[in-house]
Amino acid sequence: MTHNTSDDRPVVTRFAPSPTGHLHVGGARTALFCWAYAKRHSGQFILRIEDTDQARSSQESARGIMDDLAWLGITWDQGPTCILPDGSTCGGGDRGPYFQAQRLDIYNTYLQQLIAQGKAYPAFETPQELETQRKSAIAAKRNYRYDRAALDLPQHQLDQWLAEGREHVIRLKMPDEAITVHDAVRGVVTVQPEEMDDFIIRKRDGFPTYHFAVVVDDALMGVTHVLRGEEHLNNTPKHIALIRALGFDEPAYAHMSLTFNPDGSKMSKRDKDKAARTAAKAAGLAASPVAEIDDATFSAWLKDKKAQLEPDQLRALAVSLGIALPEVDVDDFRRAGYLPEVLCNFISLLGWSPGGNVEKFDMGFLADRFDFDRLIKTPSRFDRGKLLAFNLDALQAMSDDEFVRRVREHCERYHGDFIAHFDDASFDLFARSNHARSKTLEDPVASCRFFVVPDDEIEYERGKPVRKALVNGEPNGFAHLEAIAPLLEALPRWTVDAIEGVLSEYADAHADGKLGKTAQPLRVAVTGGVVSPAIGETLAILGQVSVLRRIRRLLALRETFTAG
Ligand code: GLU
Repeated sequence: MTHNTSDDRPVVTRFAPSPTGHLHVGGARTALFCWAYAKRHSGQFILRIEDTDQARSSQESARGIMDDLAWLGITWDQGPTCILPDGSTCGGGDRGPYFQAQRLDIYNTYLQQLIAQGKAYPAFETPQELETQRKSAIAAKRNYRYDRAALDLPQHQLDQWLAEGREHVIRLKMPDEAITVHDAVRGVVTVQPEEMDDFIIRKRDGFPTYHFAVVVDDALMGVTHVLRGEEHLNNTPKHIALIRALGFDEPAYAHMSLTFNPDGSKMSKRDKDKAARTAAKAAGLAASPVAEIDDATFSAWLKDKKAQLEPDQLRALAVSLGIALPEVDVDDFRRAGYLPEVLCNFISLLGWSPGGNVEKFDMGFLADRFDFDRLIKTPSRFDRGKLLAFNLDALQAMSDDEFVRRVREHCERYHGDFIAHFDDASFDLFARSNHARSKTLEDPVASCRFFVVPDDEIEYERGKPVRKALVNGEPNGFAHLEAIAPLLEALPRWTVDAIEGVLSEYADAHADGKLGKTAQPLRVAVTGGVVSPAIGETLAILGQVSVLRRIRRLLALRETFTAG
């Protein structure tokens, strides 16, 4: 679609999140498409923070959303100023402020204009009165619409109440005409006048409603194309009515279909609570297993399907339950070790397709090709398995050096203990030795916790593979460990080559040349289990002192292992 506004203004798109939590992956998709459309048309992409819901909005959430966008590489031409990871800045612009809570004077000016023109009016009903009216409409099987009683108030009454400062809302007087939305995805949608009522444009607390603020801001910020989720399609006739009342230009609209979980359920933040609740119930937990959640909160949450824990509470609970929570927010994917370029590629395919069976592409490709005409009407499904496969491919296509750099960045943010534990060379070797096995940047950390655990706190698995490595055969693993320990202790240089040299010499002489006979018991000694990077690298990264301590500790526990 070429842009079809009434004039030839340059393309301006905007992403307008409400800062009430983390950035949902669906929101990231909206932002990405708005960004791509503006880029394609050499236009401007605006980030506007919709923080008029004072009770639910927070600065912290706004910062988190900006951080997530910047991480994804979705930078904005106008909006709050933000320092990017490479030290450059994005944002700024002369149409701010870009936080709605700082624009109240602007909204009030337009509200007063509408009131003066008789297009909007104060209404004094209390929420309870309105609720009663709504209930009786439902009981009588009528559609509820505000009855415009406020318009019948005698002038002196109105003046008196306003002078007293009586709480009221402002409503838009809807014109008696049908409103048609021309949507690039949904086509033509017409709403009849009897389907709409005089909706509220300023709340009792003096803040504009979402509808009012969004219309005023889009117009003043020169937005030409509104691209947003399908859940807003119902709001659009209201917005058009407001645009007409205010005499603004109508932007072009495109409402994108929603994204669901593979089972068809809505992809919501509650999915994380659901997964944790199911696991907690299966484990028969009655009290909170973690300090982050008190028992009363925990038992209320356990009983109430709709209850939600805070993100850090959920994470602590998941660790204690040994489960992975489903990723829903951008921050979840980032923590889980997905690459930003892979996530962008993947979410572009939710509801859009470049055609020609092309699936793997970068942001430049998207910015060259993104258009509304290939947006798909049907809802998309979020296939985590496919995302993981994309991530694996991208990691495996990367050079070792790049992989090390990415793992370091990931650890700097989420695993300071790994950064603190290793010197540069050991960190390098740790990341490098995990490259071939990693599907995510989190994998090296998740599978190699043993590196940062104190030597005397390694917990040994007690399953069959471990017992087989230690107790089976003649000589068994314990015997090999006993024999190898002094050889390792005598090594003058602790390098991968030197360690591998001594292990293979030993294997040739005492284990029919089979390195596994000694590598596996060593692995159990230093990691607690039978999976780790190559044994030479594992020992080299861990360091000579720790390796010997761990071997001796395991030897001391010899009697506690029975044949496997
Ligand atoms: N603040 C709204 C939201 O987060 C923006 C909707 C719109 O794009 O108009 O859903």
